[in-house]
Amino acid sequence: MTPKDQKRFKVGELRPSQALTTFGVGAIIDLPNLSVMVMGLNDWPLKDTVEIGLQRLLDSVRDVLGAQVAALRSAPVVPDTRQVNPFDPSALVGIPVAPFPRWMVCPYCRRLAPLGSGLFKLETPYRTDQIRYVHANCTKPGKPPTVVPARFVVACKNGHLDDFPWRDFAHNGPTTCTGGMKLLEPSATGEAASIFVQCEGANCGAIRPMSDAFKMDLKALPVCKARRPHLRDHDECGCKTPLGLDMRMEPMLQGASNSWFGITLTALAIPQASGKLKQLVEDHWTVLEKVQSEQNIELLQTVTTQLRDLSEYTATDIWQAVQAKKTAPPDEGGDPSDLKTPEWEVFTDPDSAEKGRDFQLRAVPPPKRYAKYFETVVLAERLREVRALVGFSRIESPSDYDNPTAFPENQRARLSRTQPTWVPASEIRGEGLFFHFKEDLIQKWVKENKALDGVFLEAHRRWRIARKLEPPDEFYPGLRFVLLHSFAHALIRQLSVECGYTTASLRERIYSRNPGVDEPEMAGVLIYTAAPDSEGTLGGLVSLGRPGTLERHLDQALDNVRLCASDPLCAEHHPYRDGTTLHAASCHACLFAPETSCERGNKYLDRAVLVPTVETGEGSELAFFR
Ligand SMILES: [Zn+2]
Ligand SMILES: [Zn+2]
Ligand SMILES: [Zn+2]
Ligand SMILES: [Zn+2]
Ligand SMILES: [Zn+2]
Repeated sequence: MTPKDQKRFKVGELRPSQALTTFGVGAIIDLPNLSVMVMGLNDWPLKDTVEIGLQRLLDSVRDVLGAQVAALRSAPVVPDTRQVNPFDPSALVGIPVAPFPRWMVCPYCRRLAPLGSGLFKLETPYRTDQIRYVHANCTKPGKPPTVVPARFVVACKNGHLDDFPWRDFAHNGPTTCTGGMKLLEPSATGEAASIFVQCEGANCGAIRPMSDAFKMDLKALPVCKARRPHLRDHDECGCKTPLGLDMRMEPMLQGASNSWFGITLTALAIPQASGKLKQLVEDHWTVLEKVQSEQNIELLQTVTTQLRDLSEYTATDIWQAVQAKKTAPPDEGGDPSDLKTPEWEVFTDPDSAEKGRDFQLRAVPPPKRYAKYFETVVLAERLREVRALVGFSRIESPSDYDNPTAFPENQRARLSRTQPTWVPASEIRGEGLFFHFKEDLIQKWVKENKALDGVFLEAHRRWRIARKLEPPDEFYPGLRFVLLHSFAHALIRQLSVECGYTTASLRERIYSRNPGVDEPEMAGVLIYTAAPDSEGTLGGLVSLGRPGTLERHLDQALDNVRLCASDPLCAEHHPYRDGTTLHAASCHACLFAPETSCERGNKYLDRAVLVPTVETGEGSELAFFR
């Protein structure tokens, strides 16, 4: 590999929020001619990132990653230009990436070799999206063909990833044969059974179908070497199973949906202080924290716009508030990993919440027909959501846990070689609708439907046992969660169909806690806009919350889920009887939402808890909305 190859190049036009959700550290991105991996934080150009303030979230990130984390920062801001020479130093902004997998195939002669073999030559046109490697000495006459990534990789449950062990695999075990390799695909079905890897070594001729890779028993799979391509290293601690055995790598198709899951913590910016000035100081703390004197504030007020929201206050007033905050005793407030309880407290007492640039609530009466189900409906006229990436996983999804901080530490892949001093974050300003369910009604309903609660609990147990997660009952969210979650999905689907939101731009945030613990019960659903450019559409979602309009949408949302195009099959679906799916009457045609909208990977959903279905029948006691 030439030093030039090792240089990073930028991938143009990634939005900061995409950088986190789709293109996070350790994820593989398909470019037109190449697949690349997003590199670890050590490679990120800090100077192009912007600090994002949200103390509550930062505390929670520190709780997971350690006290050395000093800031949440945006992804590098990429200048809006397509004509960039990727190896021009000035283009080294944006998300740093490197080619992965490193084994490539020539589509013409089927030569299979790693980039380090020197067989493939890098071509760097001026458009980043056309970077490619070509097979320079191909048997094909004329222009050398562009090679493509070999689509198989191996991964382990602790987040490691490696190139597929092509040579050992073709030879049915470790080998010293150095013959040239080919990846044959006689028929273009794309199925593993019709793809063969062959060794062309003299007197060798080893050949094996790729389908074998997916049939091997555990012991035949390669032992994990703890490779971390995003950090360009191998974890020196190695890789073991929870029982201390050698971890085996599993074959995986590149681009498989379980090849990368971001582990993110999400919080809403809620008022942390009483009094308008105090709250404004809180909102601008990333700037004001660094201020050393009243003169600093005067300067900021005159030469920048950073403090324009505080223009009605004098520098003296602001300086006093800053000093008061700096000398205030540290807040003893609660468990930093519990990001939702403080939000729940504000949403259920909206009148006492200080209005600010990032947060503005207005309670409205629920629609008449729904008054018996909801305490209030709260219009969140302004919201700011911040998401921070604390790691990622492969194979196992963090949405199997009720809180990403509960994801096992040994399965969480690290973002950097050293303890991170910052983590990538994205912020979104938007608006939302909050539904505060009546607690007594929920408790009564759960009590009446113990049977279904038991079914979901059993499904939950089986799901965790299949993944060797101990203890099996842990993190069971309860039937209350199934109800709130199904309600959120029904409403997201309705609002997106009727109001032109793409489903992916609406998100749910479920506030659910069963009685019996020290903390207050929670039963609430927030639906909010989550598109990064949603600032331009402020007011659209909130206007749907007016009682008359909302009543129509609720009627429609609930009516929509009575029947599914896949009924009666969908309505009959059982959470574990035909494979453990963790959802009941629910599918892509009726209740599922895009992964980016859903907190729990489309699990714990059931239409029948909302309304009667063809399975439960009219007058069903299970339907919450009778
Ligand atoms: Zn070739
Ligand atoms: Zn051979
Ligand atoms: Zn591993
Ligand atoms: Zn369905
Ligand atoms: Zn969901």
